[in-house]
Amino acid sequence: MINILILPGDGIGPEITNQAIKIIKSCIFYGYKINLIYNYIGGVSIDKFKTPLSENVIKICLNIDVILLGCVGGYKWINSPIKPEEGLLKIRKKLNLFANIRPIKCPFKNIDFLIIRELNGGIYYGKPKGISKQIINNIPTWYGYDTEIYNEQEIIRLLKLSFNLSLNRKKKITSIDKANVLYSSKLWRKILNYISKNYKNISVNNLYIDYATIELIKNYKKFDIIVTSNIFGDIISDQCSLLTGSLGMLPSISINNKSICLFEPCHGSAPDIAGKDIANPIGILLSLVMMFEYTLNNKILSNKLFYSIYKILSYGFCTIDMKKYFFNSKIISTNEFGDLVNYYFIYD
Ligand code: NAD
Repeated sequence: MINILILPGDGIGPEITNQAIKIIKSCIFYGYKINLIYNYIGGVSIDKFKTPLSENVIKICLNIDVILLGCVGGYKWINSPIKPEEGLLKIRKKLNLFANIRPIKCPFKNIDFLIIRELNGGIYYGKPKGISKQIINNIPTWYGYDTEIYNEQEIIRLLKLSFNLSLNRKKKITSIDKANVLYSSKLWRKILNYISKNYKNISVNNLYIDYATIELIKNYKKFDIIVTSNIFGDIISDQCSLLTGSLGMLPSISINNKSICLFEPCHGSAPDIAGKDIANPIGILLSLVMMFEYTLNNKILSNKLFYSIYKILSYGFCTIDMKKYFFNSKIISTNEFGDLVNYYFIYD
């Protein structure tokens, strides 16, 4: 029996998660027994429990095989003193999910590289942070501040994981930082240099984040594994979604040192299109592709789902966000897309 915790979250979260659930339920045809447990994260959890992530959910997470998350956030909570996004930061910290792997892959364009984003440290967690007031030029003035901070252990565990993953790929790592300005990046480079000595057959390259944004668009084929900090990984993965077609198409897996894995798409809750049945479910469906490969260790099922998704696109169907890339395609709804993928997943 595989126990899966489903946290649909806010905005388009429930709509896209429903498409993933169709596929999970179809796994029964492949001999799997699956127990689905549903719970809350983000804004819906604030509304229900006054917290974006309850202790009860954390307890469930610690005793579950897999967690599938939709997305959090929305207009409703913009002025709320507690933010839905705090639920994401909390689940990552409580489960010690230190690495977030985001594949940038498109078989139509021969694109295939990984972004490995540090997920437990950096400016999103660094202290001190806050908003305060002080007298500047004799005027009481508000100021906001955050701290970009990394310790040696956080950098080492992420880099070691990246080097080990690279052994089964093209043995090529690009580390993206801002070592010409930031001390946290200077330390990052020093440790990278040191660890790379143990992996002599892996080529290592450094890029500053500003120039990396250009290279990622101009020369994306030269990348294989990119490793970077929490904030840079967050930003460049949105940028790289343009290479594959749409922000709605990127999946991710977050991992810790134990066996807990969290699967989620890279995009946010897209409140501008929520409830319209037009969201692209590919990001969460590709997250399931990763779940089949890494948690169920079933490469056959993982490939089957991957090719079912791309079959629908090659047969000329897409959601509206992909229209400019597949301009001859028929636009279909989130639900129709999920149904078609599920059909090919079972019967093809
Ligand atoms: P977003 O990713 O939600 O949306 C950016 C744009 O991409 C929007 O135009 C949206 O319609 C579109 N988009 C995103 N996913 C799509 C999909 N699957 N199909 C079609 N179009 C899609 O980013 P945002 O607008 O900056 O943030 C909205 C909310 O989401 C905010 O509250 C933000 O904090 C939150 N957020 C959550 C996560 C997460 O849950 N992991 C990540 C990023 C942002």
